[in-house]
Amino acid sequence: MNRLAPDDNWSADLKESEARYRGLLEAAPDAMVVVNQAGEIVLLNVQAESQFGYHRDELLGQPVTNVIPQGFAERLIADDLRSAEDALAQQIGTGIELTALRKDGTEFPIEIMLSPLDSPEGILVTAAIRNITVRKSAEEQLIQSLEELNRSNEELGQFAYIASHDLQEPLRMVASYTQLLARRYKGQLDADADEFIAFAVDGASRMQRLIEDLLSFSRVGTKGQPMAPTSSEGALQQALSNLDVAMSDSGAQVTYDPLPTVLADEIQLVQLFQNLVDNAIKYRRPGVPMIHVSSSDNGDHTWRFSVKDNGLGIEPKYFERIFGMFERLHQRDEFAGTGIGLAICKKIVERHGGRISVESQPGEGSTFHFGLMGAEAT
Ligand code: ADP
Repeated sequence: MNRLAPDDNWSADLKESEARYRGLLEAAPDAMVVVNQAGEIVLLNVQAESQFGYHRDELLGQPVTNVIPQGFAERLIADDLRSAEDALAQQIGTGIELTALRKDGTEFPIEIMLSPLDSPEGILVTAAIRNITVRKSAEEQLIQSLEELNRSNEELGQFAYIASHDLQEPLRMVASYTQLLARRYKGQLDADADEFIAFAVDGASRMQRLIEDLLSFSRVGTKGQPMAPTSSEGALQQALSNLDVAMSDSGAQVTYDPLPTVLADEIQLVQLFQNLVDNAIKYRRPGVPMIHVSSSDNGDHTWRFSVKDNGLGIEPKYFERIFGMFERLHQRDEFAGTGIGLAICKKIVERHGGRISVESQPGEGSTFHFGLMGAEAT
């Protein structure tokens, strides 16, 4: 019987495992390159040949910097601070984005994943190399589309602002002259004329309210002040003093807990409380409107505010809709309004990085919740 010497046995094993490894490399979907600690290519698959445009023999034994000029070889080399194992351990399993160089001099973006391989010649590193040209260009397109979207949103905001601002002047003219007509000629023309003039006066003043609300809506985005530590209790008190008349007319009782200092645009915070409390008074049931404002600490430097009323309440199916522009659940002759108040609230809260929502049952009152950042979040 022909006995193999131990050495032959060992080298046969090695050959076998090398062949197995080569088979695995060729089956991989990605280009694969195996590099030694000196940064030389010791093995590569056919996908790597075609990605880089070289024949296998032209790359074997060559420095890997020929195909990946920067960022790969450096990662394999130990320095004074770390051993080869440590140098590698930091890179294992994470995708690294680099640039690859083809034989014809053209470049393309790649992502490489490294894994170590113990071999009799020392640690080798297998790099799976993925061409990410398509992903990169998709990312760039996405960024470009987002930029365009931002720009067109901004333009739309500017347009709404300018249009509503410029409409105010001619509208003021229509409103004041129709009011003048009503005052001067009431009872002097026929009954139809009086009625028509009254419609015109009403239409003009409604339009003025709409334009004013549209203007405040677009001001939230365009005329906002920088965020600063703001006493939310102070902002609420300011809002309540602005609502003095509505409060005494309705006999509303507004109570509040001690409220925190938050990171906010003070003018907008006043407007937010004012719109919510104004609605709580407006959409009341017979009896004394009771409104309570409270806050709770979310524990992550954010606060959850609640404005609770004992008013008409809202059906759950309208919970989302009421925050949209011009969305109203009531007729004009029931309650005056433009349907922009809550859209302004939403825009203010979102500008502050929070969300607004409502919890309610018809006939049981409503609670509006919104989040704000605590002042310590700076
Ligand atoms: P407006 O008050 O001008 O109609 P808003 O945007 O402020 O516009 O409110 C939208 C709708 O949401 C209102 O028409 C009303 O039907 C409903 N709503 C808002 N606040 C309350 C509340 N506190 N209780 C009951 N319904 C409310």
